[in-house]
Amino acid sequence: MAIRKIRIEGDPLLRKKSREVTEINDRTLELLEDMKDTLYEAEGLGLAAPQVGVLRKVVVVDMRDDEGLLKMINPKIIEKSEETQINIEGCLSVPDESGYVQRPKELTVEYLDEKGETHKMKCDGYKAVCISHELDHLEGILYIDKKIEVDEEMLESEELLENEENGDTK
Ligand SMILES: [Zn+2]
Repeated sequence: MAIRKIRIEGDPLLRKKSREVTEINDRTLELLEDMKDTLYEAEGLGLAAPQVGVLRKVVVVDMRDDEGLLKMINPKIIEKSEETQINIEGCLSVPDESGYVQRPKELTVEYLDEKGETHKMKCDGYKAVCISHELDHLEGILYIDKKIEVDEEMLESEELLENEENGDTK
């Protein structure tokens, strides 16, 4: 078990693109374990490898639901809805801040698990938000790049989900 240091906005590494994992080896498994420990230590919902200084397409997500911890290698969004949702987001790499972001309401993500098996997962709600947020990290994108100003009228029309509590812990 090892807690890795989380990179904070301003660190140029957070702006770089991650490369695909070409071979799932001991280092990959160790990275996933450390990312899990770091995620729980920071009480976040998701963490992407660049946030701990590794430019590889590796993400962990735990929505604290029945599914538990998801370890995703080379995740990519293969389908997304045109319909969108607006939610409050935060990021472990941007401490003490939050903001509204518009993202697809539903998406399907394809990824490899630790054994190299391919999974396709359809998700919606805040899980879709979280996965979209983490995958952005792999492209060097932070949620603050997508932050929007919202007025109340807009929120009513977009059926804002009540996720303020979750919002600042990714
Ligand atoms: Zn983040």
